[in-house]
Amino acid sequence: MKLILIGTPGAGKGTQAKKLSKYYNIAHISTGDLLREQMQLKTEMGLKIADIINSGQLVSDDIVTSLLDERIKRDDCRNGYILDGYPRNLTQAEGLSRVIGDIDKVVFIDVDDDVIIERMAGRRSCSKCGHMYHIKYNPPAKDNVCDECGENLTQRKDDNEETVRKRLSVYHEATSPIINYYKEKNILLDINGVGDIDDIFSKITDMLKEDV
Ligand SMILES: [Zn+2]
Repeated sequence: MKLILIGTPGAGKGTQAKKLSKYYNIAHISTGDLLREQMQLKTEMGLKIADIINSGQLVSDDIVTSLLDERIKRDDCRNGYILDGYPRNLTQAEGLSRVIGDIDKVVFIDVDDDVIIERMAGRRSCSKCGHMYHIKYNPPAKDNVCDECGENLTQRKDDNEETVRKRLSVYHEATSPIINYYKEKNILLDINGVGDIDDIFSKITDMLKEDV
């Protein structure tokens, strides 16, 4: 089974990708991991990638697709794979289908922006012991104070509402054409990503059972 997983940042995509990979015994491929692997192995490609990233540029689609092309030929992909975090725009989606050919299904984990904002903007963490809280879903006993160590809690800079909104709007602009692209190919599964992790997982596997 060859799957692509797309979803808003904060939609729980990584969690579902891991579960799907285990359930179907298919490789979980994240392009971020692929780039890091090349850099760690210090391959010729890895050194090139490190140069690009260190100079603050983005790694080109050509490099990513050629790494993916090599990756899906490895042994652990014999039953298939799930691509997590790629493609992020239409050019990448088109390039990808030229290189790796047909995909069975594209799972889109769909979560309303307001829900994402609530999830992210409510996160607090303890700078001393690293314990994580959520002001609504997992609050500390005493407002803004760590249960474990008594330190005041802080919010990550990226988690404030305005930053999250900006990230989401950038994300939607780039990904709505992909969603239409896969919808037209008739391989898009639109999954409501609000609710219990296991329920969402069952929804995905049920829909895949019907369709693949
Ligand atoms: Zn603490």
